[in-house]
Amino acid sequence: MIPYKLAARNGSNINTTIQISSQEGPCLIGEGSLTVIAGPCAVESEESILTNAFLVKEMGAHILRGGAFKPRTSPYSFPGLGVEGLKYLALAKKETGLPVVTEVMDVRDIDKVMEVADLLQVGSRNMQNFPLLQELSRLQVPIILKRGFAATVEEWLLAAEYIMSGGNHQVILCERGIRTFEASTRNTIDLGVVPLVKELCHLPIIVDPSHGTGKWQMVRPIAKAAVAAGADGIMIEIHHHPEEALSDGEQSLNPQNFARLMTEVGMIAKVEGKEFLRINPSPPMHSSLNAD
Ligand code: PEP
Ligand code: MN
Repeated sequence: MIPYKLAARNGSNINTTIQISSQEGPCLIGEGSLTVIAGPCAVESEESILTNAFLVKEMGAHILRGGAFKPRTSPYSFPGLGVEGLKYLALAKKETGLPVVTEVMDVRDIDKVMEVADLLQVGSRNMQNFPLLQELSRLQVPIILKRGFAATVEEWLLAAEYIMSGGNHQVILCERGIRTFEASTRNTIDLGVVPLVKELCHLPIIVDPSHGTGKWQMVRPIAKAAVAAGADGIMIEIHHHPEEALSDGEQSLNPQNFARLMTEVGMIAKVEGKEFLRINPSPPMHSSLNAD
């Protein structure tokens, strides 16, 4: 017996497609489209999020990411700007017209985050925060559910089931790497789950090669592999000056490498028969630093 009743494919070949509205028109996540979510790890300042948001738009990506509430392993690391960060994210959304996604870590922050975000992100560390999942299940907003770094596929789909069983069927799964014996990379990206999840479940699945590898040099190849494996989207950390980022600079792409990624994943999307609508495919305006 399959324990996740609503998330399971149950023999149907119909996939869930999630529609996000934006100033540029609707943006789809799911069947037939490739969606690129990009932005800095964290909202660092008004100037920084605006610069990165315009980069995301210039490169033709679809959704802006940026954490205001950051789950950090050390209490001494930059925890994000909190409510102030949400304010800057709202400004970036207004200025660019891009839909935004940001993480919600605590049930007490849901209302504040909902005022700004078009999609909410549940981070890897909170995949089994059941009170949080239950609160999110009462909303009608798309939820990006990142895979817990020690979660099996069944546990992950059951976490999706928590959100769906409360009435919110707009769940997007996100593979972001798991913890294994391998210490050369930050996590071990598990691309095999893309076709596996597609077989088990009808929800869209995206891949985050930034946290999945921890190294900017690996992000572009793994992003392409994810699209070739059938992912409905990718989530990419970018930064206008990765070496100055307050978090995750070592896995953030600079503008030049992000532009290259966008061109290359576009080609793979074509091979996969996926629509890849670049909102504004103009060339990058900023100079490169981590060029390879
Ligand atoms: C993030 O995407 O900002 C993040 C913290 O990722 P994860 O929860 O996958 O570690
Ligand atoms: Mn990050």
